[in-house]
Amino acid sequence: PFEVLIIGGGPAGAAAAIYTARKGIRVGVAAERFGGQVLDTMGIENFISVSHTEGPKLVAQLEQHVKDYDVDVMNLQRAEKLIPAKREGGLHEVVLANGASLKAKAVILSTGARWRQMNVPGEDEYRNKGVAYCPHCDGPLFKGKRVAVIGGGNSGVEAAIDLAGIVAHVTLIEFDSQLRADAVLQRKLASLPNVKILTSAMTTKVNGDGEKVSGLSYKDRNSGAEHDIALEGIFVQIGLVPNTEWLKDAVALTQRGEIEIDARGETSQPGIFAAGDCTTVPYKQIVIAMGAGSTAALSAFDYMIRLPEE
Ligand code: FAD
Repeated sequence: PFEVLIIGGGPAGAAAAIYTARKGIRVGVAAERFGGQVLDTMGIENFISVSHTEGPKLVAQLEQHVKDYDVDVMNLQRAEKLIPAKREGGLHEVVLANGASLKAKAVILSTGARWRQMNVPGEDEYRNKGVAYCPHCDGPLFKGKRVAVIGGGNSGVEAAIDLAGIVAHVTLIEFDSQLRADAVLQRKLASLPNVKILTSAMTTKVNGDGEKVSGLSYKDRNSGAEHDIALEGIFVQIGLVPNTEWLKDAVALTQRGEIEIDARGETSQPGIFAAGDCTTVPYKQIVIAMGAGSTAALSAFDYMIRLPEE
């Protein structure tokens, strides 16, 4: 068995692996796709101390850094079930999709999250070519340009307020007849001169010139009329879904499926820790996931040294 087993190989899992291995502990990482969301990212300009990098390049460096240590990396392995230890200090079990089962004294969950997509024509084609999901990451790329934000919940309205300070104009598009964000955010949004709010509007298509986004089409759900808007960027803010469906019976999750953790990265189960986008950590970013992975690793080590000798 492993002493520490990490599930997920994004920035959180990679950081957890390095911090754990540096304690001289036997550590394994099982990841469906090593690199995680970073693999799908083009330019990264907020990875502090690196002015500009690209997702695949950062993933190669993460992998190299992990390989500097004696870490058992099991890539292309999907975890399907977690069975917590029956008694404190016992072994937790993780069952993989290939039927194998891994055991460890401590487990760190870092399975990340995925952005909910609109699933309209053009969305995939123009992803990273005008279609964006992270305003903190990509907002500055649209400085002085026109953008739409899809979604009128808290994250959509926060994104629209944030972007209105950077871009020329923001159109906020909400499917429902009213926004769902907190009233204070809605008031702030309504006060901004360069924001237009469309409700009862269903986005039907991302339009482009073959290279980048040139606009979008939406249907007015009251009149049924179709409209086109010319713009350069589309921020999709209709939900970030944690990859935790397989953990429902193992650790406490919030209503939105985030793993509940405390400041030390501890979950509801002794000896099971979690880090990054799959958790309740506020703000989902690479540097934050790396910090959280390091925290979880140090907490796992702290847990291990307190276990009675077998
Ligand atoms: P992830 O990166 O999601 O990694 C999760 C890992 O878990 C993966 O290895 C995955 O394969 C694995 N996994 C999932 N389920 C299972 C399972 N059941 N069994 C085994 N393994 C599993 N952040 C920034 O700071 N700057 C940016 O510029 C930026 N741009 C972004 C652009 C895009 C298009 C996207 C999608 C995100 C961007 N982000 C950016 C956000 C950033 O990528 C995430 O915050 C960060 O990757 C989270 O790290 P993580 O390790 O928690 O999860």
